[in-house]
Amino acid sequence: MSWKLIQRVKKRLSEERGTIRKEWGGKTTLCLAFPNRYYTGMSNLGFQTLYHQLNQLQEIVCERSFLPDKEDLLEYRKTDTPLFSLESQRPLYDFDILAFSIPFENDYPNILTILEMGKIPLLRTARNDSHPLVIAGGVAVFLNPEPLSDFFNFFFIGEGEELLPEFLRCFEEAKSEGKTQLEFVEKAAAIEGVYVPQLYQVRYFDEGPINSFTPKGKHPRRIKRRWVRDINNIHTTSTLFTPHTQFNDMALVEVNRGCPRGCRFCAGCFIYRPFRNRTLKDLRMDIEEGLTHERRLGLMGSAVSDHPRLREICQSVLDSKGTLSIASLRADSISEDLITYLKAGGHKTISLAPEAGSERLRRVIKKDLQEMDLLRAVEMISKGGIPNIRLYFIIGLPTETARDIDEIVGLTRRIKHIFLKVGRDQKRLGRIVLSITPFIPKPSTPFQWAPYEEINSLKRKLKLVKNELRGEGNVQVTHNLPKWGYIQTLLSRGDRRVGRILLAAHYNGGNWQKTFKEINLNPDFYVYREIDFDEILPWDFIDHGISKDYLRGEYLEALSQGKE
Ligand code: SF4
Repeated sequence: MSWKLIQRVKKRLSEERGTIRKEWGGKTTLCLAFPNRYYTGMSNLGFQTLYHQLNQLQEIVCERSFLPDKEDLLEYRKTDTPLFSLESQRPLYDFDILAFSIPFENDYPNILTILEMGKIPLLRTARNDSHPLVIAGGVAVFLNPEPLSDFFNFFFIGEGEELLPEFLRCFEEAKSEGKTQLEFVEKAAAIEGVYVPQLYQVRYFDEGPINSFTPKGKHPRRIKRRWVRDINNIHTTSTLFTPHTQFNDMALVEVNRGCPRGCRFCAGCFIYRPFRNRTLKDLRMDIEEGLTHERRLGLMGSAVSDHPRLREICQSVLDSKGTLSIASLRADSISEDLITYLKAGGHKTISLAPEAGSERLRRVIKKDLQEMDLLRAVEMISKGGIPNIRLYFIIGLPTETARDIDEIVGLTRRIKHIFLKVGRDQKRLGRIVLSITPFIPKPSTPFQWAPYEEINSLKRKLKLVKNELRGEGNVQVTHNLPKWGYIQTLLSRGDRRVGRILLAAHYNGGNWQKTFKEINLNPDFYVYREIDFDEILPWDFIDHGISKDYLRGEYLEALSQGKE
């Protein structure tokens, strides 16, 4: 064990508020692992909520582990120290359960790094009863866990707060009965929402799509997603506070879950159904509690501006002398009084998500937003004294043409015109930041069958937008790299065979190009293809409560709207 690493962790803990330390004696020990660095993991409200919720269970000790920062990574390797948890500094292999919370596909390679550094065999088949059970949940997993099948014992399909306590009760029972891991696996597979990949057999057409996906024995053909019926029963609020995170001066409170809008590219909307709002009464309690920790309060949710009591929620924050932050607002929900609240709450930037430049393409993706609404929102924001605007756009959407790309530029200029006019009147000018991401076809959305656009074509589109807007003062363009969108699509839509690519990429030190050349599997098959409606999709076994026919109908309607 490296003394230096232990000292660093102790320092980090000394700067935290909310750390929970429990004695291990006789309890079930679970290490909650986040497949990215501390800074990123500690910004994740779901991760924090689970940590707190699990530690409320008397018989459970829940500690945390993250991908080490670069400097620490070198020290771990130099000293051959096994990766350890934050709270007790015990190696990961000492825990009963290693539970990953995985929000984002591009973090999959980090999972293998964590396992390797924890001295836990990467492949499930290479582990035995002396190793921890390795399990995973989180949004990436309940969209499609298949590329990770070789590495995990269990996946949780659905919301962790609903599922994990039941799973842990089952684990404790099995432990007290002296059951082996294999016996426990059979028992836990009966819990609704628990998916055990080893209990399912997948066959493929040569180098092609899935031929059959069948349970071994009597296990269910489809795994039903679990979701929290009443989100007022759980308190999704910050419980850990540290200066080393994105939200270092803020307490976060979840306002609602899911979204009622149904944009056709948006995974969050389809898999977090139904849309659920927390009550004003419960939110007021959490706001009060949050403001005892920090004076700035962040309202979280994919559809915060769709909460019917949003104004009262904002007022509660201000009444309690707090300042306010909201991640993103629907342009058509913005009103003058909401801007007043946000301004009074210290907001400096408001994010809007037109997603597409033209109204035609917004209709295709079902982003039911008129340009008039956007321009009206920009005017209100500027007049209300909020200096900066962030605009989210997606490129490479189904049916997109060159004209749609030109419209991103055109719309930005029209927005800037209003922005400057109001700003000059008020003798104050801020910034417009465009944030552009390539479209990723996500499982369980109407666009799951659509291809990812060729990397070079995406690059050309980005270049065009950047060149056109280069000379525009007060406008800045930021974007994600198309090559990472390619990897994300591969991992989002992959089947079990993609696990081989992941493993090879791990052994190649993250060199994807080298990996693709070496491996006998064509990644373009998963990324660039428009998938046939008749194919069995790797994630078809997940029952999100939305029929494939409905999604197909939505996709076809989008394509026909694209021709209008
Ligand atoms: S409005 Fe936003 S969160 Fe809601 S469905 Fe559309 S993209 Fe998703």
